[in-house]
Amino acid sequence: DADMLNVCAVEVAAAHDARILAFTPGLDDALFEHDGQITKHEIRALTLSALAPRRGELLWDIGAGSGSIGIEWMLADPSLSAIAIEGHPERAGRIRRNAGKFGVPGLAVVEGTAPDALAGLAAPDAVFIGGGGSEAGVMDAAMAGLRPGGRLVANAVTTEMEAVLLAHHARLGGALIRIDIARASPVGQMTGWRPAMPVTQWRWVK
Ligand code: SAH
Repeated sequence: DADMLNVCAVEVAAAHDARILAFTPGLDDALFEHDGQITKHEIRALTLSALAPRRGELLWDIGAGSGSIGIEWMLADPSLSAIAIEGHPERAGRIRRNAGKFGVPGLAVVEGTAPDALAGLAAPDAVFIGGGGSEAGVMDAAMAGLRPGGRLVANAVTTEMEAVLLAHHARLGGALIRIDIARASPVGQMTGWRPAMPVTQWRWVK
């Protein structure tokens, strides 16, 4: 419940010199246990904004990695639910630990590979594809599973996945954006911009 959520949130935040977690998505990557496979916080904020949770809705987080997208979806409101689908067993365990730490133990974790692992899941109002989207049948199964009027958001960091998104945009419309982030960091005694890998994001309403 809400009290439990706050207690856990404080514990997580305390380890990072914050008094309490912010309400807005795009929380510090370091708050999540991860192995490098995590949607970075700036991209995550844009992604949650695109997913646009409304009261009572269900999300599929396909290729959930650390679970950060499903977790921030659930943190937005206690009425929300999410299913994290992750093929890598170690990461599935990590998602469960992160969900507990952030006070959203209700996040469902399906340890399995899309598209097969999607069969039989409750139809979602929104789908995020953060991994597996270039594998055969994954985009089709995600789009077929989505409720009419539901939102799909897919991020690509590889050219293979980008090609899939360009093709879907050409065929179905929706919105395609490219997100280029650079962070200032030391260059000797001075400071310079280090570009992160660009992310291509496709947003589509069924
Ligand atoms: N959005 C995540 C990061 C995703 S990284 C986060 O913020 O933490 C991509 C993930 O997709 C990896 O963990 C990989 O194991 C998973 N993946 C790749 N193909 C998959 C598939 N077909 N089914 C399920 N998971 C898959």
